[in-house]
Amino acid sequence: MLGKFIVFEGIDGSGTSTQSEMLKDYLLDNNIKAVTTAEPSSGPIGNLIREGFKKRVAFVDDSKLFDEQMAYLFAADRHDHLYNKVDGIFSLNKKNITTISTRYFFSSLVYHVTNDKEYKFVKKLNEKFPLPDLTIYIDNPVEISLERIALRAHRDTYENKEKLEKVSKNYKKVFAEYNQNLLVVDGSLSIMEIHNIIKREVIKLYE
Ligand code: ADP
Repeated sequence: MLGKFIVFEGIDGSGTSTQSEMLKDYLLDNNIKAVTTAEPSSGPIGNLIREGFKKRVAFVDDSKLFDEQMAYLFAADRHDHLYNKVDGIFSLNKKNITTISTRYFFSSLVYHVTNDKEYKFVKKLNEKFPLPDLTIYIDNPVEISLERIALRAHRDTYENKEKLEKVSKNYKKVFAEYNQNLLVVDGSLSIMEIHNIIKREVIKLYE
């Protein structure tokens, strides 16, 4: 399959959206067809999740039940994002289109988990999803992310210091376990430095 499946992960404000767009442009400049996508997806379940974040749809108040509900919804959305025949990741990959997704099941393991029991539950929910051809983890210090997020007009549920610190710690654990096809980049480098590291690694996928 010529189209590759590439994933960006990192805490909010780490630069994943910026880098995924730059990577797409770089691939297009090199005559490699590529699109960016994200989780939650733009499909029906992804939209439901977004409506929930905006409180247009009411989800449970209890934070543990909320995390559990999110883990189920994100797994259902992920299945649709990968396998739907219209614009699913693998349908596009079969047409030689590389898909660059901001977030994948690693995000469920870091955002919807607070202890080992929950980790096992979310891991089980996601165990059938395949690994990407390359996962790029932008490892950004929490303080730097917070400064960048403070400049945004709209903030979502997960963007506070305590949550980001927990998520950052969880990422370290997750990527100690899922360390195949993984590139870890220091998020405190400049946008261009990060882009250059990423493109050197990504182009190898097509050699
Ligand atoms: P994410 O999608 O991971 O939440 P964004 O790509 O939206 O993060 O970046 C958040 C903000 O930080 C944006 O204003 C972006 O221009 C800026 N930014 C991204 N990467 C860097 C970087 N390496 N150095 C400085 N600023 C950055």
